[in-house]
Amino acid sequence: MEKRNIFLSFIVILGLLAGFHLSQEGRLQALLFQGRENQELEETMITEPRTSLVTVAAVGDIMMHSPQINAGYQQSTGEYNFDHFFKEIKPYLISADLTLGNLEVPLAGKDRQYTGYPRFNSPSELAAALKNSGFDLVTTANNHALDRGEAGVLATLDNLDKYGLKYVGTARNDEEKNRIFLEEIKGIKIAVLAYTYGTNGIPIPKDKPYLINLIDENLIQNDVRKAKELKADFIIACIHWGNEYQRQPNDFQKELAAKVIGYGVDVIIGSHPHVLQPAEKIFVNSEEGIREGLVIYSMGNFISNQKERYRDSSIVLILEIEKDWQANQTVLRNAVYIPTWVQRLAHGKPVYRVLPVEKAIKDYEQRKDQSLSSSDYQKLKQAWEDITGLLGEDDLIKLKTVIQ
Ligand SMILES: [Zn+2]
Repeated sequence: MEKRNIFLSFIVILGLLAGFHLSQEGRLQALLFQGRENQELEETMITEPRTSLVTVAAVGDIMMHSPQINAGYQQSTGEYNFDHFFKEIKPYLISADLTLGNLEVPLAGKDRQYTGYPRFNSPSELAAALKNSGFDLVTTANNHALDRGEAGVLATLDNLDKYGLKYVGTARNDEEKNRIFLEEIKGIKIAVLAYTYGTNGIPIPKDKPYLINLIDENLIQNDVRKAKELKADFIIACIHWGNEYQRQPNDFQKELAAKVIGYGVDVIIGSHPHVLQPAEKIFVNSEEGIREGLVIYSMGNFISNQKERYRDSSIVLILEIEKDWQANQTVLRNAVYIPTWVQRLAHGKPVYRVLPVEKAIKDYEQRKDQSLSSSDYQKLKQAWEDITGLLGEDDLIKLKTVIQ
């Protein structure tokens, strides 16, 4: 009896399988022969996307000198608001899937007194303005992170949390430091790492090395390994390094860049020199064969009170990252840049507007922006020449026009 039961069950299963198979085949047949109305359906089945594209926008140093803090003070309410700093550049930030910049100032709270250079502390409303302007993430590993000591690091992170900005580079504890920043967008996992050369001589408490990520080859290598274990498709490293006001990278930057690309990083975004430095494609021999990576050595000042030539202009860098699902491979499909310039005064009053250079030049010429003076116009044209001269128009990273 038992044997017979087993045999019967076997037959039943076989029958079910066959039925299933036939019904599948039937469906296919039906799809193939049902005529025109099904052609669309067939096409959608065939043209199912094999790639996904994600855009990451990045900017350089977000500085806050005292005149900028004052420019955000609203007499009528007694509060700070910096939204107007970024109003003109917001469309290019908010349209990216992930937008990041280097927050070079602590947001340590009112009690610790707001100050500009040399030891910064800015109102936390700056975080609100960044969030409102399209930023998702800020890097906090830079030489000013400890300007208000450990308390300043912790208060900054609390303020970033409060306004919904993500961060990488500083941490409250070991657990937070060990966590890799990973953002999954349209199925593509993007890791962002951040490190600084130092903290302006302000000592990091010996028992709290987790507070800030210093440039340490072992740490970087480990973080890349962890990111890969988490199945990161693309890794960006933001490194605070280089010589201030030098328009070319130094040997340390070049050597470290090659090592970091070799570890498995795809793009390095540099900051700290307060001026733009060139981009370079790096090829490195690694265990997996020849690895290719892009480095932009310094992004310059995204916003600051520095008015000297080269220090008042910068770029929005946009990375187009593409994943091929069949090959399970993610590449930097394209990198483009939008030149920017900071207008500091309008009709003699402080403004600090980050402007897309190309549009601002046109607005001046067409008298659409009455707040731009002829001296601003000259500086805009100078900035355009300086930026496109350094990065080229159709090289590694391509100039992106903002005029339709
Ligand atoms: Zn710096």
